[in-house]
Amino acid sequence: MLLFDKVSKKYDGDITALDNINFSVEQGEFFFLVGPSGAGKTTLMRLLIREEVPTSGSIFFKDIDVPNIPNKLLPTYRQRLGVVFQDIKLLSSKTLEENINFALDILGKEDKEIKETTDYLLETVGLQDRKNLFPHQLSGGEQQRGAIARALANNPELFIADEPTGNLDPDNAFQVLDILKKINKGGTTVMIISHDRGIVNEMKTRVVRMEKGKVISDNHGDYDTIKTPKKTEDDKKKDEEKKNQKFKGLSKDINDILEKAKISDMEMVLNLTDTDLGNLNFSHEQKDDLEKYVKNYLNKEKHD
Ligand code: ADP
Repeated sequence: MLLFDKVSKKYDGDITALDNINFSVEQGEFFFLVGPSGAGKTTLMRLLIREEVPTSGSIFFKDIDVPNIPNKLLPTYRQRLGVVFQDIKLLSSKTLEENINFALDILGKEDKEIKETTDYLLETVGLQDRKNLFPHQLSGGEQQRGAIARALANNPELFIADEPTGNLDPDNAFQVLDILKKINKGGTTVMIISHDRGIVNEMKTRVVRMEKGKVISDNHGDYDTIKTPKKTEDDKKKDEEKKNQKFKGLSKDINDILEKAKISDMEMVLNLTDTDLGNLNFSHEQKDDLEKYVKNYLNKEKHD
């Protein structure tokens, strides 16, 4: 359903918010996106809802090439998503019921359908008896549930929430989690950005962990279980190259000799004496090549 392929996002001033992000999501999945502040989670979400475009890489939602959606088709795309932002954003001048009515009205629904759907959504989040209250009269947990109800108005294929339990006590947080589970059971794919260990560990579902703009772990389980994500073909190729050629620019036979002697970094190469080189059975040619390599390296160091 969703694919991030080699996605990077750089901002002015050389800030790398996302650095080669690769992951995919199947329809119907429930997953958490976790990681410390500044890891790039919000940026990833903003790319997904096309508030931003990546610097490189591609993002596909089903067969839609997200960064290249023409502006006039953006509203149609966004109607396929249900998004709850960190700061909730319920309209303060409208009651909870009116907030949801309004979202349905924008979608062009008829009055009868608006009423029925609003009732259904209020029921889903357990707020039927609070429908006539204004946002400031609702508790934090109720506001959050109200925002979720409103985000569900368009019956989204993908539901995304940024820290939906962020400011809630455990009871309220678990109530919200139950609603998210319900949404997922109904077939909607759910992506939750969260810092909430209690919630993540309760679900035992997929956890994608980001750090410094990279996905550093992708596994099913607890918040703190780290499992290196599956390597892409590109990563594997690079690893193989690295393995075969520790010292880039040196021939494979020289690399093989160095590897056999467990000489694994430049510091060790620099410390090799003539006797060492003799003991390692380098040919004259190989010795010359290695000396040239060391000279180049030292010159480059001086320049840097
Ligand atoms: P998270 O949501 O995980 O806390 P963000 O996606 O908000 O992380 O931020 C990732 C990095 O990108 C941070 O270093 C942040 O300062 C930077 N960043 C985010 N948005 C912008 C922007 N509009 N301009 C410049 N830098 C940004």
